[in-house]
Amino acid sequence: MTLSVHLFPCLNDNYGLLVRDDASGQVATIDTPDADAILSELDRLGWGDLHLILNTHWHADHTGGNAALKARTGCDIVGPAEVGRLAPLDRVVSGGDTVTLGRTPLQVTATPGHTLGHVVYRSVADSEAFVGDTLFALGCGRLFEGTPQQMWDSLQTVASWPAETRIWCAHEYTAANARFALSLDDRPEMQAHAEAVFAARTRGEATVPTTVATERAFNPFLRAVDVTDFAARRAAKDAFRG
Ligand code: ZN
Ligand code: FE
Repeated sequence: MTLSVHLFPCLNDNYGLLVRDDASGQVATIDTPDADAILSELDRLGWGDLHLILNTHWHADHTGGNAALKARTGCDIVGPAEVGRLAPLDRVVSGGDTVTLGRTPLQVTATPGHTLGHVVYRSVADSEAFVGDTLFALGCGRLFEGTPQQMWDSLQTVASWPAETRIWCAHEYTAANARFALSLDDRPEMQAHAEAVFAARTRGEATVPTTVATERAFNPFLRAVDVTDFAARRAAKDAFRG
């Protein structure tokens, strides 16, 4: 059970994520920000056919390529029921389900907050987690549909995973998130981490994946003391112009 993960920029600030189960050669895309970009990366990698789409939530920058990829590859589309509002969906999953890519089981966990039906996918054996717009490096998704309590619980779930778990986020927001984190946290280690983020972005490097350990240490939303503090931090971030 080994997964290869390939990350590439898509649209303005999304990441495309292609995931291959090396034992079987089966390939999935996490969300579908841009069908053409996904197919050309697949081609460039020589990874063959696309077998599976794993949607995290219904937003257009995550499902917009479903129809074109289905038409061009015949892949299966798996996701929460809410995806059906906007895009084709073959199999509905919810928290507690398992999806199999080749020989790799991926656990489905419900993480409501950004949307009500948001789910994330994780290979426990490979320590890889695909979290959509729930957690970002040094940030979290906006609360478009859910309550602060729902998002707080969802973030606690992610934070409870093993420290070494790699967190593959769906957007590159880390530099802006780091500026907000610095407004709340002046520890020298926070400043050093933010400087490393700024330097990586100046070099044009991705700051994704992050890890559970890194986010537990530095993410201002995971460092909130309780749900009230979390809600205040989320509201402050929405208004933050750093
Ligand atoms: Zn979204
Ligand atoms: Fe998004």
